[in-house]
Amino acid sequence: MAEALRTGRVIVVGAGIGGLCSALLLAQRGLDVTLLEAADSPGGKIRQVQVDGVGVDSGPTVFTMRWVLDQMLAEVGTCLEDILTLEPISVLARHAWAGQTQRLDLLSDTARSADAIAEFSSPAEARRFLGFCRQTRALYDALEKPYIRSERPNLLSMVSDLGLGGMATLSGLGPFASLWRSLGRHFHDPRLQQLFGRYATYCGSSPWSAPATLMLVAQVELDGVWSVSGGMFRVAKALATLGEKHGVTARYGSACHQILLHGGRVSGVRLASGEVLEADHVVFNGDVAALSLGLLGEAVRPAARAPSTPQRSLSAFTLSMHASASGFPLVRHNVFFQPDYRREFDDIFQHRRLPRQGTVYLCAQDRQDSGLAPPGAERIFCLVNAPPDGDTSSFDASEIAACESSSLALMRHCGLELQAMPHQVVRTLPQDFARLFPGSGGALYGRATHGWMSAFARPSARSKVPGLYLAGGSVHPGPGLPMAAMSGRLAAATLMAHLDSTSRSRRVVISGGMSTR
Ligand SMILES: Cc1cc2nc3c(=O)[nH]c(=O)nc-3n(C[C@H](O)[C@H](O)[C@H](O)COP(=O)(O)OP(=O)(O)OC[C@H]3O[C@@H](n4cnc5c(N)ncnc54)[C@H](O)[C@@H]3O)c2cc1C
Repeated sequence: MAEALRTGRVIVVGAGIGGLCSALLLAQRGLDVTLLEAADSPGGKIRQVQVDGVGVDSGPTVFTMRWVLDQMLAEVGTCLEDILTLEPISVLARHAWAGQTQRLDLLSDTARSADAIAEFSSPAEARRFLGFCRQTRALYDALEKPYIRSERPNLLSMVSDLGLGGMATLSGLGPFASLWRSLGRHFHDPRLQQLFGRYATYCGSSPWSAPATLMLVAQVELDGVWSVSGGMFRVAKALATLGEKHGVTARYGSACHQILLHGGRVSGVRLASGEVLEADHVVFNGDVAALSLGLLGEAVRPAARAPSTPQRSLSAFTLSMHASASGFPLVRHNVFFQPDYRREFDDIFQHRRLPRQGTVYLCAQDRQDSGLAPPGAERIFCLVNAPPDGDTSSFDASEIAACESSSLALMRHCGLELQAMPHQVVRTLPQDFARLFPGSGGALYGRATHGWMSAFARPSARSKVPGLYLAGGSVHPGPGLPMAAMSGRLAAATLMAHLDSTSRSRRVVISGGMSTR
């Protein structure tokens, strides 16, 4: 029985990082894998926008937790260096505040960051920063195995896996506190509270509603950031090529219209073209909200657990540019803060409008640590957080123009002038993200991590429909390139464990310490 299933056919719907990882691992284990992707190329949110004849990375730009891909590639007999050129970044991000000449660089070297904070704020604040780092380190170490690597953590399994030490770390943090409040206990300088509060947005969440545990996102970045030669898009391309080498049949421009069941079990898919492909298993890598909304057919609506916190995560308003920059020493990653941080999240999550004055993240992707710019125009990507309502409301031209001009004014207030001709700027709005990622409404990170139980509300790799598995940023362990890659690994491991299982349930452990029951 198990052998027959082993030679079974798998369809992976979606070539985002989660789908690419699942497809590669399943093909490497000898399954017959077809990867269906609606777009013309792999990557999903890892995407390039063509501006003025150059490709501008317009999705993820911060590459962290490389161990996730390192371990996965080791499983398929290769390594990151064989398929990509990575360079560690020493300036994690340069932070500027409107109207202030002072800037703060956060560095990969913690001691040097502390020196920078001592100069920027005070020696006492630098000591508090080091205390913060100790706590986030302990938190990350406590949660990596029982949460990030675990197939389906719940409160009980976490308590038993954390052990006494881990529980002490968690309770020291005040697990019911919000990230914002907890940061207020660490830092006295509001600018540092704002800087570290911003890490909640990496999960598409507000620092006022996110739990204190999201501090560990800061640790992820402090553990190292890399730039990918040729752009992040190369990560997706390289994994797609590797998958094909291992036997994945990739079909781009092939939207899946319906997941088909027979006798209550997955039996295949119907494409938008009407073509039917049979399969024994389907891994779905789109936003799980698409399933519950019935976009993949009525039969698979119940596949993902109903959310206990239905709030969608942040969307974004982005500018992909080929522009000239002057007046501010840009490095690769830059953040421009405005003073009223709370108002930004009230605008988005309560008033459901583009922020009147949003924080701007800017990636100067032709620059490395030296900050040296190429001559002439350079590739620039700007991101402002936005409400995830791209399926229910379109922002009108005046609201978009107001958001864009307040963002440019904020950067100007920090000294930066950007100059570009109209054909050198491409705008992407929540309604565009909603179209690209069906069911999401433009939310880029699945459901928001709001409230301390929200981390347990994400569906796991094993769906409620037999034969249907889930992978991607809307699934456990959550959004971000490495986490979505991890979800792809978990989906593949769960599917393989199912195939390997005999009548009695047993625990399967795969390399890297990941386990599924
Ligand atoms: C602007 C932006 C900036 C970001 N910045 C960072 C960052 O700096 N660092 C970081 O780590 N993360 C970042 N992220 C988040 C990260 O990109 C995502 O969490 C991750 O890439 C999501 O991967 P995924 O596996 O969920 O697949 P997705 O990227 O969501 O891709 C899903 C794919 O499925 C396809 N699909 C969906 N439905 C169907 C269907 N019915 N038929 C066929 N195909 C279908 C879609 O076309 C898409 O290609 C950012 C995201 C965005 C958008």
